[in-house]
Amino acid sequence: MRFAEHWSHATVVATRDLAPTIREIILEPDVPTGHWAPGSHISVAVLIDGQPERRSYSLIPCADGHLRIAVRLADDSRGGSRAMWALQPGSRLEMSNPTSLFKIDWSRKHYCLIAGGIGVTPMLAIAATLARRDVGLSMHYAAKSREDAALHDELGALLGDRLALYHSAATARLDLAATFAALPTDAVAVVCGPLRMIEAAKHAWADAGRAASDLCFETFGSSGRLPTREFRVRIGTTGQEILVPRDRSMLDVLNAAGFDVISDCQRGECGVCAIDVSRVDGEIDHRDVFFSAEQKHQNGKICPCVSRANGTVTIDTLYRADELPSQAA
Ligand SMILES: Cc1cc2nc3c(=O)[nH]c(=O)nc-3n(C[C@H](O)[C@H](O)[C@H](O)COP(=O)(O)OP(=O)(O)OC[C@H]3O[C@@H](n4cnc5c(N)ncnc54)[C@H](O)[C@@H]3O)c2cc1C
Repeated sequence: MRFAEHWSHATVVATRDLAPTIREIILEPDVPTGHWAPGSHISVAVLIDGQPERRSYSLIPCADGHLRIAVRLADDSRGGSRAMWALQPGSRLEMSNPTSLFKIDWSRKHYCLIAGGIGVTPMLAIAATLARRDVGLSMHYAAKSREDAALHDELGALLGDRLALYHSAATARLDLAATFAALPTDAVAVVCGPLRMIEAAKHAWADAGRAASDLCFETFGSSGRLPTREFRVRIGTTGQEILVPRDRSMLDVLNAAGFDVISDCQRGECGVCAIDVSRVDGEIDHRDVFFSAEQKHQNGKICPCVSRANGTVTIDTLYRADELPSQAA
């Protein structure tokens, strides 16, 4: 989905560590952003290896017209979160207006919020909005450890015993099947967390016989099952091989090589960039949430915006942009 984006500047007012790898950053925008929908995020401009890039950060409720975000320092990263962690009070940055990717039906009577790790950030505003209304509400928050559970105290103050925290030292485990089975039929679930959590939630939601449209989710990134490393793409029709380096996406590399691969969300959600795969010598690391588990298992298509591989992936149907005129003639 595309939004009308407006970019302006903001000044960092304060920073503070909420957890060993999660830093809160308070921003004062030059242009007041006004009301933003719960679950909204801003995009910010960052320089990675001297190149302009953008990264998105969810908004956490904050007083005084300031904007509050929390950034996890990502290991295995191209550098966006490192650039955010380098910000100090007084630093300036360019940011977009807030927008939301969540399509939550706010008219329901029951809601179940599920957060994993840094996926907690959009949940605070969503939980605060729902807590003010007369609706059934529960939240399940899974973190690596109690120490890593950023914003847990704020959520606890808001939700009391409607909040359950799961971490490695706790005895209780998040049981999605049981959680969904216990929900009233009109309930909506909102999930934000790592790819594996979203996949598991989609699976459990479907198994519980619930409508796919009643499960809202947002993905933050592209971490996968396998470490991020370089791999090769072979164009089936010509045999041409292209290297996808560790720090670039398959989509970027194909477009830079002159193939017009259309794309939209670039988060592995919309499937617009999906490409047919004819052979895999190695293993595909599907990092999208668009294809079903069965489709991923079949390896017939790949979302090149986020998914990667080990080895070589052969794709067909691509043509070089400069061959178009002769083909069209
Ligand atoms: C709507 C939205 C809201 C978000 N909200 C937050 C938030 O509140 N807090 C927060 O910390 N983050 C949030 N994010 C994620 C954030 O935008 C960044 O993606 C994150 O900070 C990591 O950026 P990075 O450059 O450090 O890491 P990246 O380089 O983007 O790496 C992140 C992951 O991608 C993998 N990766 C690395 N290189 C590649 C490559 N070439 N191709 C594919 N995958 C690769 C790595 O394995 C790594 O695990 C949000 C993202 C979205 C879309």
